[in-house]
Amino acid sequence: MICMRCKSSMRRVVVKGVVLDRCDRCRSFWVDGGELETLRRNKGGRRADAVAQVLAERRAESADPLVCETMCPRCQESVTPTRLGNMTVEQCVECQGLFFDYGELETCLFGASGKKDWFNAFLGLLGIRV
Ligand SMILES: [Zn+2]
Ligand SMILES: [Zn+2]
Repeated sequence: MICMRCKSSMRRVVVKGVVLDRCDRCRSFWVDGGELETLRRNKGGRRADAVAQVLAERRAESADPLVCETMCPRCQESVTPTRLGNMTVEQCVECQGLFFDYGELETCLFGASGKKDWFNAFLGLLGIRV
């Protein structure tokens, strides 16, 4: 699968039975439709909204327009910006998959200062040091 942002190939990773695609180059994630709910149910979902404000401010500061294909890397249908708490992520109109820029997925799940043990273990699996 090709990254929407930088067109590198994304690597499939499986975390707790949830399949994610990660771009090693720009560190974005693709989450298939429905899988985000599984992740949020497993851990950290309730925290997501509380930290969305922090994220929104941070994103505004480092405004980096999403220069990317407007097609879903999974099914080639169009993607459209969608609100997730206070975040805006790209979502496929067909398969409901979600594209997260670097940092957005973990913030969505755990917040900027939330408990990160599980997610750190997850990042460890991906070979990322935090
Ligand atoms: Zn990328
Ligand atoms: Zn799609």
